[in-house]
Amino acid sequence: ESKENDEPICLKILVVGKLACGKTSIIQRYCHNEFQQRYKPTIGVDFQQKELEIMNTKVILQLWDIAGQERFNHMTRVYFQNADGAVVVFDATRSGTFLGAKAWKDDIDFCFSDQDLPTILLANKCDLLTPPYTFPEDIDSFREQNKFIKYFYTSAKEDKNINEALEELVKVILQSY
Ligand code: GDP
Ligand code: MG
Repeated sequence: ESKENDEPICLKILVVGKLACGKTSIIQRYCHNEFQQRYKPTIGVDFQQKELEIMNTKVILQLWDIAGQERFNHMTRVYFQNADGAVVVFDATRSGTFLGAKAWKDDIDFCFSDQDLPTILLANKCDLLTPPYTFPEDIDSFREQNKFIKYFYTSAKEDKNINEALEELVKVILQSY
């Protein structure tokens, strides 16, 4: 009977990273199982949501999308409010976006200085790479130094690892909920 009182938990997840690294594509793939080859820049802020059940808990996951060129400013600060977690995306084929990932993580750490926002790192567009993957910096030490929970190679195009990555993030958030 008590089950019926279980209201779903609504979690707000920020999706950030440099322009064109695949933030909108990841959200579209995850929430609607769609992918578009054609690039359509995101304007302003928007969110998509998906319902799921994890660890016997009903969750409404809201993925917040922001225009990539909008780095830390007033708008970003508003968008960061009440977030439960974050996804930092970089384009695994463009090393410049790897450094961009660090800039975004620094902004998150600055805004959530008192509670450490659970954050994962996604190396997206891995369908365009041939393993073994190489990066300008060692991704393991990068993850550790910048306090990401975990990193994943993802492809929005081929639907690779996106569900796994978000499930991992939600589990960590729920553990301390
Ligand atoms: P955003 O600016 O970070 O929101 O990037 P978009 O999601 O709009 O994607 C930018 C471009 O990269 C688009 O042309 C997408 O089709 C393409 N793209 C996104 N994800 C992938 C991926 O996993 N693999 C490949 N090959 N292209 C992708
Ligand atoms: Mg976008």
